[in-house]
Amino acid sequence: MTSSDRAPALGFTSDNIAGASPEVIEALVAASVGQADPYGADPYTASVERRLSDIFEREVDVLLVPTGTAANALCLSAMTPPWGNIYCHASSHINNDECGAPAFYTNGAKLVTVDGSAAKMDPAKLLEAARSKVGDVHSTQPACASITQATEEGSVYTLAEIEAISDACKAANIRLHMDGSRFANALVSQDCTPAEMTWKAGVHALSLGATKNGVLAAEAIVLFDRTLATELAFRRKRAGHLFSKMRFLAAQIDAYLSNDLWLRNARQANAAASRLTQGLAELDGVEIMGAPTANIVFCRLPEPMIKALLDAGFRFYHDRWGAGVVRFVTAFSTTFEDVDHLLKRARAVSQ
Ligand SMILES: *Cc1c(COP(=O)(O)O)cnc(C)c1O
Repeated sequence: MTSSDRAPALGFTSDNIAGASPEVIEALVAASVGQADPYGADPYTASVERRLSDIFEREVDVLLVPTGTAANALCLSAMTPPWGNIYCHASSHINNDECGAPAFYTNGAKLVTVDGSAAKMDPAKLLEAARSKVGDVHSTQPACASITQATEEGSVYTLAEIEAISDACKAANIRLHMDGSRFANALVSQDCTPAEMTWKAGVHALSLGATKNGVLAAEAIVLFDRTLATELAFRRKRAGHLFSKMRFLAAQIDAYLSNDLWLRNARQANAAASRLTQGLAELDGVEIMGAPTANIVFCRLPEPMIKALLDAGFRFYHDRWGAGVVRFVTAFSTTFEDVDHLLKRARAVSQ
């Protein structure tokens, strides 16, 4: 279906309201024919492993899971003892949106929040936090840090910023996890390779998102520190996340990584966000907050504009982060027509 076949989409609440790319659906249908060995011993899973090793320019271990929460919480559980500290930003998904899964899977490790602007941890504050009470038997101990790329606010850590976080981790002797729920959106906004944005900058383990960017339900844990792999395999099974028909998770990710679909989808989502940002910035009374680089736009809109957009059927989160603060999220399926339709309505109120 091309964009002109449908009425403009009204939803800007999140990128998980989008459907899936046709290539992914076709791959699932193709994978449903014939027999395949279970639990990841199938050719689709092998293909995903090969593709990810190519993409990251080194051997990696890969564990496919159905949700980002499972990817994050399982990954972290192999990076901390139950008495460990996991350093993260207060706005992070692991801190706000996973119902305590990291604490559950780690058997009680503690999320310790570290400040920083634009939802990014400040490396100096991270180091300070990770150096306090080391060795004190009364206190939970530094274990790992987790950064989100792109962040929950739509900002992106630059390579230098990831390296600064990684330097702090090295100085504190802790490992670094990346929540890459929107990894592709971050990647295409930066002039760097997947390897540079991860292990070359000191990332040990990545939750590679796919669901928000064109697949139905599949995410990949990508391990650069391969010593984590054996333990994680047991943890995934014990958590009930080892799919017997793994080929169906793998077929989705395989299609996602083929022919640059993941990058094309992310470019479309980012371009839609950028068009939306530019259009809104021209309107009286609109303030764009931060410098959105991926597919999330935070802005402050006049109250009548929020009301008019809601009345016209547009959907987005507002007034959760402060009066008049609105969050728009675009997806791979958001077209320029969708964006222009919203802008037209907003423009009508601002005149
Ligand atoms: C959506 C999201 C996830 C994964 O969420 P699930 O609903 O568990 O798939 C993880 N991290 C971030 C930053 C997200 O936005």
